[in-house]
Amino acid sequence: STSDSVKVAVRVRPFNQREKNAGSQCIISMQDKTTNIKNPETGDIKSFSYDHSYWSHDGFKETPSGVSEPDGSNYADQKRLFSDLGQGVLDNAWQGYNAALFAYGQTGSGKSYSMIGYGANKGIVPITCEELFKAIDTSSDNKKQLRVFFSMLEIYNEQVRDLIVKEKPPHGGLKIRQNPKSGFYVEGLKQVPVRSYKEIEKLMESGTINRTTAATNMNATSSRSHMVITIRFEQVLVNDAGQSNTRSSDINLVDLAGSERADSTGATGDRLKEGSAINQSLSTLGNVISALADQAMGKTKVLVPYRDSVLTKLLQSALGGNSRTIMIAALSPADINYDETLSTLRYADRAKKIQNKATVNESPTD
Ligand code: ADP
Ligand code: MG
Repeated sequence: STSDSVKVAVRVRPFNQREKNAGSQCIISMQDKTTNIKNPETGDIKSFSYDHSYWSHDGFKETPSGVSEPDGSNYADQKRLFSDLGQGVLDNAWQGYNAALFAYGQTGSGKSYSMIGYGANKGIVPITCEELFKAIDTSSDNKKQLRVFFSMLEIYNEQVRDLIVKEKPPHGGLKIRQNPKSGFYVEGLKQVPVRSYKEIEKLMESGTINRTTAATNMNATSSRSHMVITIRFEQVLVNDAGQSNTRSSDINLVDLAGSERADSTGATGDRLKEGSAINQSLSTLGNVISALADQAMGKTKVLVPYRDSVLTKLLQSALGGNSRTIMIAALSPADINYDETLSTLRYADRAKKIQNKATVNESPTD
């Protein structure tokens, strides 16, 4: 068992059209691991240090195939995120460690771009899956049987929906159950055995469509739901005596709902209710992170409120438990988003204090 802290990366995106139209100023600057934010009114600068500070604000060109590539300057592209963060997740998975990758930030800050990507600019999730199968296909150890399972769910209004199945979810969503050994899980969630990256790609595509369709039907956008993809990687190892052991790793990949507060979006009535239920998962996540940070700082008798939301139940092991965990905090560069961006930087700052205790998952095959 090894204890290590949650790794935190921040990434600042280019201006979007709305910010350009508003004549926005860039208030973010970075040097090495340091990210600075300038208060546009006072000029006051605050500095934070993370495991990685990714500058993706400028310095890229679109290639004819639509891929954003660095133009020789310092633009941090999708491949860079994979090699810094995704590759380590894969290495851990082969060793039998659980891993988790979260994307946090306000709507439009670049969470889905970093996680899933758009068009030719594939994000860290598809690149990681693709590389996993490349490694499986070249693995020549015939004493080992390798299996991959894929699942994809959405948490909306504290209800869980399976994004792999087309049917409407049962009233109230899928049930969360607790297993004394492995913790919380979603009852009846599809775990699809997959044999190639192509199969994952198809499942991710239809899952993304299901997420969007559901959001439209509920008169909301996908920015208000949390999406969790789980890749389960199993290696069945047979020794010379013919005994078989299974080494497994769960990789949780989480695209969180937008972190902006409901009051800043002007929501009222039903929409406010939805907003506060979504905030229940997100604000509980914040409370869990704060409690774990306090614990890591030596505070005793800290109660970690995992049970207060669906998200924190399902991600319990990723937060202070048996997992190697990474958070990517997505940042808008624009002065108009100063308050939200500062709160994202503070959130990320707290997350890096969390200590996890990852252990190898290996036991006799059942
Ligand atoms: P979120 O998922 O946080 O709501 P998106 O990932 O959809 O936000 O990003 C919003 C917009 O910004 C998209 O058009 C996306 O292509 C663009 N964008 C985000 N991050 C980057 C980046 N690192 N480089 C280039 N464009 C980006
Ligand atoms: Mg998104």
